[in-house]
Amino acid sequence: MLHNDFRRFLEILETLNPAQIEDAQTRIRNLRQKNEVISEFEARTNQECECPFCGGEKRQKWGRTRTKVQRYRCCDCKKTYTGRTTSTIGRIHRPDLFMTVLHDMLNAPRPQSVRKLAAQLGVNKYTIWRWRMQVLSIVDNSSVVRFSGIVEADETYQRESRKGSREWVRHLADPANVAPPPRPRWEDFTTKGLKMMRGLSRWQLPILTVADRSGVRLFQRLPDRKSATLEKAMMPLIPGDAVLCSDGASAYKKVADQSGIEHFVVGSKPGARIAGGCYHIQNVNSLHARYSAFIRPFCGPAAKYLNGYIRWLEARLARMKPSDVIRLS
Ligand SMILES: [Zn+2]
Repeated sequence: MLHNDFRRFLEILETLNPAQIEDAQTRIRNLRQKNEVISEFEARTNQECECPFCGGEKRQKWGRTRTKVQRYRCCDCKKTYTGRTTSTIGRIHRPDLFMTVLHDMLNAPRPQSVRKLAAQLGVNKYTIWRWRMQVLSIVDNSSVVRFSGIVEADETYQRESRKGSREWVRHLADPANVAPPPRPRWEDFTTKGLKMMRGLSRWQLPILTVADRSGVRLFQRLPDRKSATLEKAMMPLIPGDAVLCSDGASAYKKVADQSGIEHFVVGSKPGARIAGGCYHIQNVNSLHARYSAFIRPFCGPAAKYLNGYIRWLEARLARMKPSDVIRLS
């Protein structure tokens, strides 16, 4: 906007009535939220003035993008670029809407469903789904966590899901050539009255949860429920001077024996959950509660995406900000 026009605009502001002021304020607040992101992108090109294609440092300003971000052209390879050109979110056409989705994923008390977000933003539900998967791949930075002091460990379980799988349909269409899936559909257990497997069957996917008292935590999906698997996952996590608290599964005992650390076994029954003083597994129990509250609205995400959902929960627990995700991309 030209300077004079802007002055005139400010003068008109004086004539607004209270309701209009309220309206204008909301609009400006929304605009500021969008600008935060844009300045984030902008900052990236300002810091790294190298061309993402050839590494050339000489560049010209080359107009602005639809979202008003400065575009540059490399003087060597003549390609144009902005701050997010080679990032994971480089090819998103509506970064403003993407940011709304990101805000919802990280900051909303309860993330909205893909369909609701799609209706609200006026885009296709598959677009939102793709963006969500993109965010999950960005936050999936398997950084090394270090535990110390009193370390609590326990597992929680998630029922295996093949949501969206065509296995059963393909088998029904061509039973001679397509092998049947390894289990009936979960809905068949209710509609066809099949007998449900009791307790922890092999369709309950274990998720190992480890936490220490300084707030370091880890959710890790294990491939199976075997004791050896749990042991293998636990060994590199526990330092030699730690104290382990667990429910006394044999794998934890073995880990404690092998690394020569003190091990407190906590009962699972009420009243036996504390093995004296500060030796308890209340922190991991609370993480399990957070996990089940988080995962419930998704009605069992497909197992192939479960890892992403776990990382998403970790990002929420770590109070990750949308700008942090942008920086990682
Ligand atoms: Zn270049």
